[in-house]
Amino acid sequence: MRRALTPVVSLALLAAGTVSAQRPARLGPQVTNFVAVDAPAIAITNVRVIDGMGTAPREGQTVVIQNGKIAAVGAGAAVPAGARTVDGSGKTLMPGMVGLHDHSYYTTSGRVVQSNFTAPLLYLASGVTTVRTTGANNPYAELNLKRSIERGDFPGPRLFITGPYLTGPGQGLGSTMVGLNSEDEARRIVAYWAAEGVSWLKFYTGVSRAAMKAAIDEGHKHGLKFTGHLCSVPYREAVALGIDAIEHGLFANSDYDKTRKPDECSPNMMQSFIGLDVKSPEVTATFKDMIAKNVALTSTLVVYELFVANRPPLEQRVLDAMSPDARTEYLTSRARIAETNSGIPLDVFKTGMAYELAFARAGGLLGSGVDPTGNGGALFGYGNQRNVELLVEAGFTPVEAIQVATSNGAKALGIFGETGSIAVGKNADLVLIAGNPAAQISDIKKVELVFRDGIGFDSAKMIAAVRGLVGAR
Ligand SMILES: [Zn+2]
Repeated sequence: MRRALTPVVSLALLAAGTVSAQRPARLGPQVTNFVAVDAPAIAITNVRVIDGMGTAPREGQTVVIQNGKIAAVGAGAAVPAGARTVDGSGKTLMPGMVGLHDHSYYTTSGRVVQSNFTAPLLYLASGVTTVRTTGANNPYAELNLKRSIERGDFPGPRLFITGPYLTGPGQGLGSTMVGLNSEDEARRIVAYWAAEGVSWLKFYTGVSRAAMKAAIDEGHKHGLKFTGHLCSVPYREAVALGIDAIEHGLFANSDYDKTRKPDECSPNMMQSFIGLDVKSPEVTATFKDMIAKNVALTSTLVVYELFVANRPPLEQRVLDAMSPDARTEYLTSRARIAETNSGIPLDVFKTGMAYELAFARAGGLLGSGVDPTGNGGALFGYGNQRNVELLVEAGFTPVEAIQVATSNGAKALGIFGETGSIAVGKNADLVLIAGNPAAQISDIKKVELVFRDGIGFDSAKMIAAVRGLVGAR
C-alpha cells in the first residue's frame, strides 16, 4: 500500500497534469504497492551526493525533485513549501544505474525463463532505472513488458528493447536466434523489427561480415543501433562495418586470435587472451578504432566471473532470490567448476579486467551490465551491483566505477541529456543508499529507495516480492 500523504501534498497531487511526460497518466495497483514516496515536490536533505560523473562525493546536500525532474542540487538548496522531505543523513544519493546488458530472461544450465515478473522488480530494487535488454529471447514478451511499464501497470526500469539475436546460419533446434543467410534477409529482418518498435539489435557469434554490413546499413536508415556479442567478426572489422557498441569487454574479441578464419567463430579465441598485454600495439589498435568511431564497450565481468573457480563470494541474498530448482542448478554448476577447474583461468579473467581499465584510461566509453545468463549466478540488478564491485577490483576508483554504470551507460544509449547523472533538469532517476559506496563499494548493495522519474520505490518490498521466484517467473 502507498503510505498516507500529508494533506498539503495530496492537494498538490490533484495538479498531476503538470508532471513529466515520462510518468504514466495513472499508476496501477501493482505499481503503487511498491511506492514509498510520491509527491509533486520531494526534498532529500543532508545527503552525500555521488553525481555519476566521477567527481568526489559532496556532503550535506539537498536534492529537490519536482514533477519527476531534478529541480535543485546543493548545500543551500531551498526546500519548496509543502515538499515531502526524506532525511538523507548518513546516506548517499547516486544516479539510477543504466544497465547495458540487462536481459529480461534468465538462464541456468537447466532453464531459460522469460522473467517479466522478477526482472523488472529486481532491476529497479537494485537501483537500475534504465535497461537495454541487449538480446531478446522473446522479443514480444519484452515489448509487452515495456508497454506495461509505460502504461503504469507494472513497476520497472525504462526499457530499451533489443530484438532477437542476429547470428549466422545453422543455429540448432530450439534456438530463438535469427540465422542470417543473405544480405537480403538481413535487410528484411532489420526493417521488420524497426517497425515493431525495437531500438537496438544485437549480433551474435556466428554472423558474417556481409550480413552484418547489410543489417547495419538498413538499420541505421530506421534509427536503429547495433551491438554485438561477437566472435566470427573481430572488433576492429565490426567497427569498420559501422557497429555502434560492443559487448563483454575483452571476452568476445577475436582481434588477437592468429588462427581465426574469416567469418568463422574460432574455438581458440579464449586461448589468445592468455598472456595478452593490454598495452601491446594490437590492443592499442583496437582501442584506437573504437574510440575514433565512438563505439562503446560494455563490461559484463560479472557473468564471466561465474566461470572462475570459487568466485564470486556466495551471497545469501542471491540464493534467497532463486527458485529452489534454479538454486540447485547454480550450486551444482559452481561446484563442478571448482572441482574440475574447467572454467576461465583467473589470469585470463584478470586480463579482462585490465583490458577494460586500459580502454577507459585510453578515452574509451565503457559502460556496465549484468548479463543474467551463464550458469545463473548473476541476477537481475544484484549482478549490476556486483559488476561495479568488479570494476573497482579492476582498478577504477569507486566513483569512477559508478560513473561507468550510470552516466557512461546513458551516453552509450544517447540519453545523457535526460538521465545518468545528478544534475538540474534531468529525470529524477536516483538511488538512496544506506551507506557510502565511495568509501566502501559494497555499500552499493544497501539500496533503500529508488526514484524513477521522481517516483520513489521501496527496494526491500520489491526484493521480498521476488523471493524464491528468480528462475520461475
Ligand atoms: Zn547476453
